Amino acid sequence: MKNERILLSSPHMSDEGYEQAFVKEAFDTNWIAPLGANVTGFENELADFVKTGHAAALVSGTSAIQMALKAAGVGKDDIVICQSLTFSATANPIIYQGAIPVFVDSDEETWNLDPRALKKALEKYPEAKAVIVVHLYGLSAQLDEIISLCEEYDVTLIEDAAESLGTTYKGRYTGTFGKYGVYSFNGNKIITTSGGGMLVSEDEERIEKVRFWSTQARDKARHYQHSEIGYNYRMSNIVAGIGRGQLKVLNDRIAKKNYIHEFYKRELSNISQISFMPENDWSKSNFWLSAIILDNIDPNYLMDELEKENIESRPIWKPMHMQPIFEEYDFIGTNIAEKLFETGVCLPSDTKMTEEDLYRVTNTIKRAIANAN
Ligand SMILES: *Cc1c(COP(=O)(O)O)cnc(C)c1O
Repeated sequence: MKNERILLSSPHMSDEGYEQAFVKEAFDTNWIAPLGANVTGFENELADFVKTGHAAALVSGTSAIQMALKAAGVGKDDIVICQSLTFSATANPIIYQGAIPVFVDSDEETWNLDPRALKKALEKYPEAKAVIVVHLYGLSAQLDEIISLCEEYDVTLIEDAAESLGTTYKGRYTGTFGKYGVYSFNGNKIITTSGGGMLVSEDEERIEKVRFWSTQARDKARHYQHSEIGYNYRMSNIVAGIGRGQLKVLNDRIAKKNYIHEFYKRELSNISQISFMPENDWSKSNFWLSAIILDNIDPNYLMDELEKENIESRPIWKPMHMQPIFEEYDFIGTNIAEKLFETGVCLPSDTKMTEEDLYRVTNTIKRAIANAN
């Protein structure tokens, strides 16, 4: 089939049918709802994979960020420092909690939270309750510097690792460095449950508390007794079954994403107008999405050329401090995030892509750049 659409990142179930086997087990035992073996299994297996203590399976990464903020004691009018270059779901939960975001720039070495700008933000807002760092596209932030600043100012570090499941920083998985880590299993992520998220922490008591809040905060009583506001945020046993199956192929997906990134580098790195995402010897990325930076070429031009060939591409995330809904909030930094947004393009990184698909992408880019010159 010629010119079938090539996607950025779409669901990729195992060839072995692991996901269906776990879901079938849920049907066979009638554990359709509420919780059940798949939820506990998925929590334990994910915690084992990333080598952390405890995990709570929730309906989304977004709800996991909100629960992390709540568990950190973030409430009305508290300051939360948040990486600006990210997807809005990182920042929205700050508003859900009635708190006030302060956005911080990225650095060129990681594309993530710039420790120098974070230091300035903490000097200006020493009362901040939490810091949210993101590991965009699977690239790891400079965790050592960020952790020591959070310790110095006694703020809780939350890692939005929605895009970086499987990425390591100095040999340890991202998402396990902060007091709380968040993963997403949305349809476009490296593994998916059709929709879902996970909150991880070494603090068993806090994770237990999140499980309590996210199942309507029912006190221990026969009747319905509530002394706290609850949420309906728990992952279902069916969805968790998909997650257990997907975990079995996570390493394969990481390997393929790395292969895709290497392919693009090999084919495109001799084009002088193209540069690649930063790589650091202290981190191993899952390369959830491969992104490039264009020099003197309009990203919209390249994206249009790709679209003509039925190839999906996207700009880099538009920073939060540039979003109409967040424009009233403070921003600390210069123009790094803005420059990345204005010059970057995310390339198809779908793990189902064939060699032919990959060449279709790179040949289209080569042709477009040659015609632009
Ligand atoms: C996908 C994503 C989220 C939200 O996760 P959902 O499971 O879709 O709610 C949060 N932050 C980042 C950086 C993401 O990419």
